[in-house]
This record gives sequence, structure tokens and C-alpha cells, in this order.
Amino acid sequence: MTSLPKRSKNAKKLGLVIDLDTCVGCHACVVSCKEWNTGGYPAPLSDAQPYGREPSGAFLNRVHSYETANETSQRTVYFPKSCLHCENAQCVTVCPTGASYKRAEDGIVLVDEDLCIGCGLCAWACPYGAREMDPVVGVMKKCTLCIDRIYNENIPPAERRPACVNACPAGARHFGDLGDPESSASKLAAQRPAQEPLGDLDYRPTNKYLAPRKPKSVTSAKPLEPVNRDGGGGFIGWVDAMLSKLNPPA
Ligand code: SF4
Ligand code: SF4
Ligand code: SF4
Repeated sequence: MTSLPKRSKNAKKLGLVIDLDTCVGCHACVVSCKEWNTGGYPAPLSDAQPYGREPSGAFLNRVHSYETANETSQRTVYFPKSCLHCENAQCVTVCPTGASYKRAEDGIVLVDEDLCIGCGLCAWACPYGAREMDPVVGVMKKCTLCIDRIYNENIPPAERRPACVNACPAGARHFGDLGDPESSASKLAAQRPAQEPLGDLDYRPTNKYLAPRKPKSVTSAKPLEPVNRDGGGGFIGWVDAMLSKLNPPA
């Protein structure tokens, strides 16, 4: 098993603040992430069988869609999801080889692919489903917070941000030090305020989400059947509960 580094309360916490109100579900962040992390050459985005019956691949960022509705309004909410770089990252502590680790200096959670034996334990420990096994090379993949961009002195300073942040046309993704209350990311997270998915599990995710604002009522909406209202647990249940508060059944 692998230890988490000792980190002070005020340690640097690099992460993302994602605004669910402005995300339009365009998937530009997904494509940009995949291209930066496993691309670099003209190729299909899927890693295996790109032209076969079952193309597959490991994506470090995915956008999920949820529909929320009551008698008077309805809305589709897009929920981009990648590793949340938790402070209490159990994907690290379950790792038998030390491949999964958290950096002391900035809190980024990474996988050392040379040490990964592909056992999958970390994916089971992640309540957000943010890790994916690479079907081609058999090692675990996850968001790196674009560590090879944000510290890269060969990139112009204005572009030393995660590829997904640079690509987002809606300005829904914000990168910064969430351990510094004066950073623009922290100030943004404090404004609405930001949500911490599955906060009661005490994983203490660094990434934060700004919940969608309440929709204006429209009269033409036909309510959708709730998908997961009763007894739904885990990450999907958390999202459903959050959206239900936003748009309660009439
Ligand atoms: S899949 Fe790799 S990173 Fe994950 S727990 Fe196993 S060895 Fe560690
Ligand atoms: S920070 Fe980088 S690795 Fe993480 S989701 Fe964004 S583009 Fe992908
Ligand atoms: S690029 Fe921005 S708007 Fe498009 S899906 Fe990603 S977060 Fe949402």
C-alpha cells in the first residue's frame, strides 16, 4: 500500500473549478485532453479498434449529461468529470506498488506507469470513476492536470494551463491554486459557492463544481421521468440529488 504525503492545511492545491451553468457539453475539453495526452499525431481518438465494431480507449476526461425537469421547466446539465485530485486520495493508499501517488508540492495525483501492474484497485477506490485502464498498454490512466503543460517553460506563459481549460469555448473551466484563498480560482469557488462532489466521503476533492443556476420557468416543458430519484447511490446519486434541489419535482 502507498502513503499519502504529509501536507499542511495551506499547501498548494492545484485543481479545476468547473462551472456547470456555462458548460454547453461540446466535448472540446475531452478532445483536447485526449489529443494532448495520447495524441500528437493524426490518429483517431479511440485507442483500440478505431474502425472496428467496438472502438475503445481510455479518456482522462468525459462529459456526462443529465436531464432535470419539473412541471414548468426542464434543462440538460452537462457534467465534465476528470480526476478531482483529492487531498485524502484512497486511489493512492490502495495501490500495492507505489505507482499511484500524490505530489507533496502541489497536490497533483499521478500514476507512474512504469510501476503500474494494472491491478485496477485504484479504479475501485475512486468514487468518481475518474480512472480508466488503457486497453492497449494495460496501465491505469487518469487526469494529470496537464503537469507537462503547466510547468513547461517551452510553452508561452499564457498557455501554461491544462489543455482542457485552453480549449473550452464557454470559459467553463478554471485552473488555479485552490489552497490559496486569494487565487482567482478560489475566489470564483467562493462566489456561488462551489460544490464538492460526495463531500461526506471525506476524500476532500480539490476540484470544485459551480452548480447550475435555477432555470427560469417555461410552460411548454413536459416533465421527464426521474432516473435515479430513489435509492440511487454513489456519484450518480450525488449528481441526481444536487439537480433535484435545483429543480425539485412539482
Ligand atoms: S492499477 Fe496501477 S496505479 Fe492502480 S492500484 Fe494497481 S498498480 Fe496502482
Ligand atoms: S487537466 Fe489535462 S489531463 Fe486533466 S482533464 Fe484537463 S486536459 Fe485532461
Ligand atoms: S469544453 Fe467547456 S463547454 Fe465544452 S464540454 Fe468541456 S467544459 Fe463544457
